[in-house]
Parts: sequence; C-alpha cells; structure tokens
Amino acid sequence: MKKIIIGAFAHESNDFCPNMTTREKFSFFKGADVIRLLPVKDIFEEAGYEIVPTIYARAESYGRVEKQTYLDFEEEILKVVRENTDAVGIWMFCHGAMCVDGIGSGEYRLMKDIRSIIGHDCLISLGMDLHGNIEPDFGDYVDIFRCYHTAPHTDQVDTYRRTAKALVKALDGGFRVQTELIKLKMIFPGEMAATSTEPVKSIIAKLDDLENNDPKIECASFYCGFMWTDAPRTSSSIAVVPSAPEYQAYAREKAEELADYAFGKRREFAFEMESYDSPESIRQALESSIKPVLVTDMGDNPTAGTNGGSLALLRPVLEQIGDNDRALVLGIYDPDAFSAAAEAVGKEIDLTVGIGIDEVTAPCTLRVCVKEVFPVMDYDIKTNPLHEECRGVLFSCGRTDIVVTDKPFAFIHTETFDHSPFDMDAYTLIVTKFGYIYPDLKAYAKRYIMANTPGESYQIMQGFEWHSLTRPIFPLDDI
Ligand SMILES: [Zn+2]
Repeated sequence: MKKIIIGAFAHESNDFCPNMTTREKFSFFKGADVIRLLPVKDIFEEAGYEIVPTIYARAESYGRVEKQTYLDFEEEILKVVRENTDAVGIWMFCHGAMCVDGIGSGEYRLMKDIRSIIGHDCLISLGMDLHGNIEPDFGDYVDIFRCYHTAPHTDQVDTYRRTAKALVKALDGGFRVQTELIKLKMIFPGEMAATSTEPVKSIIAKLDDLENNDPKIECASFYCGFMWTDAPRTSSSIAVVPSAPEYQAYAREKAEELADYAFGKRREFAFEMESYDSPESIRQALESSIKPVLVTDMGDNPTAGTNGGSLALLRPVLEQIGDNDRALVLGIYDPDAFSAAAEAVGKEIDLTVGIGIDEVTAPCTLRVCVKEVFPVMDYDIKTNPLHEECRGVLFSCGRTDIVVTDKPFAFIHTETFDHSPFDMDAYTLIVTKFGYIYPDLKAYAKRYIMANTPGESYQIMQGFEWHSLTRPIFPLDDI
C-alpha cells in the first residue's frame, strides 16, 4: 500500500513576549493518537493509502520556541520520514508563524529538512493558519498549502480536509502542481483583519468564489500574516493552487489579481468593533445604556502569544465599578497569586496580583474572598475532546469576580465557560484577554468593545521597535 506521512507541529510565536515556549507548553502525541487527533484519516484510507503518523505537537501562542524544543520535535518527525522514504505523500498541519530562537521560521526549516531526506518525488501538502508569515520560496519545498478562510478561526477542519483531498487528487492523478505565492508589502494585527468585516470579507469572498466555482483552481488563500514577528518574512501573502499542471500560469494570473486587490484595500483595514484605550473602554462599558458589555484586552491576548499577566483593564474596573454593576475579569496569569489563593478557598485574604515584568503587570494587593479552584477546560480543534488546559482560581473583590490562572490562557470558548464555576449571565461587564469578538463571545453580551491596551500584542505597529522587517511595509511605511 502506498504511504502518506501525517502530523501536526504548530506554534504562533510572538517576538515581543519575553519568555520562550518550552517543551512542557506543547500538547504532544505520537502514534495512533496523531491519527485520532487529525480529521483526515477517512480521506486517506478511503483513497487506499496507508497512514504513517509522526507527531501531533502544538502549543498556545507564546514567545519564540526554544531551539532544543524545536529540534527534539523535528527529530521525532524526521525519524519517521527516514524510516519511510518510500512515502508518496506528506500531509501536515503547520501554523506558519512558528519562530524558533536561533533558527527563524520553524515551518521553513522543517520542510527543508524533510526534503533533504525524502527528496522531491514525494508530494507535500499543508493545512495552515491564516496568521502565517510565509518565506518567499516556501513553494520550492511544499507543493500545496492553503490557510483558513476565517478569523477568528472556525474552519480548521475544512482547511485540513481540503488540503488532504488536494494531496490525494494529485497523487491519484499522477501530477504535481505548485502553489503560486505572492508576498504583499503589508501587515496588520489579526484584530484589524477579521473575516466577518471589510476589507477581508471581500477578499475571502473572492477566494471562496475561485475554490467553489472555478474548476481550474484547487485552493486559494489570503495569509493575513502575524505582525508580532520581527523578521524579513513578516507580511501578508496570497497563495493559489491550480487544480492541474496545465493551469499553473492561470493560477499565477489569479494570484496576481488577488494580490492587487488585497494590497489595494490596505488603507481599509480597521478594528471590527468600537475601540478605546484602557480606562475609556471600561468607562464606556460601565456607563453604557446597553448591557451586558464584553471588553477584550487586545494588548495582552494570549492567543497572540502574550504572557497574559496584564492588569491594564482590571485596575480601571476596580476603580470605576458602581453599585449597579457586577464585573467578571477573566484569565489573569499569575502562578504565585494562583497558589496563594488556591490555599485560601473560602477565606478572605490580602492577595497580591501582578507578575511584575513591566508597567501593566506591576503588582497590586487586593482584599479578596476566594471562592473556588477549578480545571480550565478547552479544545485544540473543535472536533476533539476537551482537556484541562490550566487551572484557575475564582475570587471576588467587591462587586468584581476575578479569575487568575497558573498558565497564560484566553477564556473564549462556550465550552470553557460551561465547565467553569462562574455564571456568565450574572454580569453586566465581562473582560477577557483576547482580540476580536469571537462568535462564541457574542452570546454573552449586547455591546462589545475591543480595548486598545498596551502590551505584547499592542495593535499599533508604530508602538514597537522593528529591526528585521522587509521595508517598505504598510502601515509602517506610507506606500
Ligand atoms: Zn490564527
């Protein structure tokens, strides 16, 4: 039976987070679990291929991946590739914004190393995240790549399955196509590129139209890119895969059209919802005639790789909350505060919160009543079961309930809320560490504010020092 090697090795690495992503931060599986966790098994089996699993390793966004951690996972993959050099195909999920300390792009290095073992006869197909920064010659190593068409992401399974089917189609047809990649001289934070709002909505509509209605095109992608990586590859990209080799030139034409269209829209990228600085966001929320209000802490968004410890919104909530409001502030990372509170369930204590690594995490001491310690449940891919992502402790400080976690974590999924001890319906103000307003979050409020807070995922590009970007790039340069 012909073999297809599969796996997942994914991380989104934020250069401005001062910490490294180390091995223990990864969910890691080998063997049959890899096949169980990736929703492509039936596609390859029904087409008559034997599936050879490598690894499934992914971690929440955070700082750069530690070099040895990367090398250890890579070796696990390369070992399987070395033992199966007769494989005809490789399918993987790779994010596209993994940045490895001392190496650079993790996906790029991995694909080069895989090719050096398996050669160029084997076809490689990747399902990727829309927040990937793609190296300009990535297509020399990977035949087919396609990213999500949604941000916030709800179509992971569709992306994995499409790229798996595209691989089978090329293998069965005995042909090879190349993904036409065009780098765009622009980059935005994800919060300015939600696919439900313009201009990304129109860009995605064009991609969907090509994929659904043009038989010459197999896959079409707009990689928004990941702004918080200070590297020459950091930018948006267009990627188009033809459905057969004879449409290669046509795919290039379509890629150029899409690139012109997307770049032409660069001045229209903006936040999906109303946005203010930290104190003003909370003032707007508490004085709102429409409640409940949900506020996201965009500058400290763990899903964009931050440390999760910012108190930038907690402080104004505690200062401004009135007698008619009840607030819930979700997911402040502080392992010491977590331990201290976890030992005092049912008691009233003075608790110091704040990991003290910068201005927005400077510690403060609060008089709190500790309610409960609980496992924080979440999933990687919606089709997979929930698992314990970290632990949280719930305590109240006056009319504000606060959850502190022992790891950086973004409370964003309905399933997580359903397994938590607080009642989301009990509050007039909910604050969570995230960026755009995820469909799940919309269920809990009537008004939404994206707080433009300072932090490692600060939204204003000019607020960072850049050393390695390829210039010019919009909006840093007025092109
Ligand atoms: Zn993403």
